[in-house]
Amino acid sequence: MILRIGILFFLCTLLACSSPPVASTKGQVSKSPQPKTSPTKSITNNHHILLLGLDGIGFKTFKKMQEGGYFRSFRPVAPMVASFPSISDPNWAKIMRTPLEVSFTKEHFDRELREGKGEMKGGLMDHVFHPPGYESYFDYRPEGALQHLASMTYSETSGLYWLDALEKKLLEETKKKIFTAFIVNTDFIAHTKGEMGILHYLRELDRKIIQLRERFFKNFGEKLEVVLVSDHGNVFLKPKAVDVDKVLQEDSWKLGEELKSDGDVVMVVPEILSFAPFFSRKGQEAKLAKSLSRVEGVHVALYLTGPFQVDFLAQNGRSHTRAQFDFKKSTVSYHVLKGEDPFQQIQYFKNGALNLNKYFQETLNDEYPNAIVRGFEGLTQNSLQKPSVLVSPLLGYVFSNKTLELITKILGLESVHGSFQREESQGIFVSTDRDLPPVYPGIVLDYIN
Ligand SMILES: [Zn+2]
Repeated sequence: MILRIGILFFLCTLLACSSPPVASTKGQVSKSPQPKTSPTKSITNNHHILLLGLDGIGFKTFKKMQEGGYFRSFRPVAPMVASFPSISDPNWAKIMRTPLEVSFTKEHFDRELREGKGEMKGGLMDHVFHPPGYESYFDYRPEGALQHLASMTYSETSGLYWLDALEKKLLEETKKKIFTAFIVNTDFIAHTKGEMGILHYLRELDRKIIQLRERFFKNFGEKLEVVLVSDHGNVFLKPKAVDVDKVLQEDSWKLGEELKSDGDVVMVVPEILSFAPFFSRKGQEAKLAKSLSRVEGVHVALYLTGPFQVDFLAQNGRSHTRAQFDFKKSTVSYHVLKGEDPFQQIQYFKNGALNLNKYFQETLNDEYPNAIVRGFEGLTQNSLQKPSVLVSPLLGYVFSNKTLELITKILGLESVHGSFQREESQGIFVSTDRDLPPVYPGIVLDYIN
């Protein structure tokens, strides 16, 4: 994201970009898979709902606002625990139940190309000219290249302006019972202006929501419930870069952009994020994960060891744990094969396999909430192109490169997300009218539709 901001900043200063997003004609949300639980649905009243998607607003930050006296018109906030990685594309696609993106980020490695040697695809401008599919399922969203540019570069100004435009649109849409809107600016504000920047924006948002609901009632005599949902959190710190080169060299891996032989590795780092996907030839995953677990700043390296089985390596390969899933029974079991459990969750499995929903509830406020399930999802169901090994770093570390670091020095980087860590993982789920429970992305719409 920071890379985008850096380069696009120069483009955007040449352009005047301030027209508000237009409303979508689609608006229909596609039904699809797998809610693992069936929550109580409670929308029976004859009122209207505005579902407002805010990118990257952390549970901790929002809770701080509520404790400080803001968002009093809302019920207490609950966490929306992101799948892994804790980044936008896979999580919004799951929240909105839209088709998966090719990869976690626009720039990605397509291992199917060139007879299995693979090729790097996508790039910077795709973020602007080919926005992810889930955006089009929101009734109201940034449209076109200029508005995406505005969101990234003039994030606070355009974010507030668009709230006004949204209100105008909503007051025209009298027939719609459920109206969905997406504001991407909040994540940019968190990254570039830090927690103070995001608190300032949220104060304005609170004020505008109160005003919007009053005007809605005045105009139509009907109630407007506002539900806020966010795809992941942000942890506010100055990160250090993970350097994989030295260890990969020592272990005779060749880091590059194609997979010609068993020793080849591809790492995809298009943005400064606290996770990274790695690609190797088939059969090399365990060896690669072991090397990656030796890298300073790495928390866990994970890879599939069966269709429903994921292994986690940590602490220089001294720690090895394994999770097995039984989706017919909706259970997960977890075993320490060697060393310590990197998630400190083995105590929940004293009596054997655990119901997936119980595991979610038990680990909700742990340092790594729902990590075992999210790790499996990251390897199997969050993108079309599946990585060989996924890596989640320790708190405070990110994956990066020299160009990204240079841009960051110039523009500043105040927050990161991507890993299993709690603050990075927990977005928000909160309503003006109902106590909403903690959720994972796949069940958010169960509380709206
Ligand atoms: Zn996001």
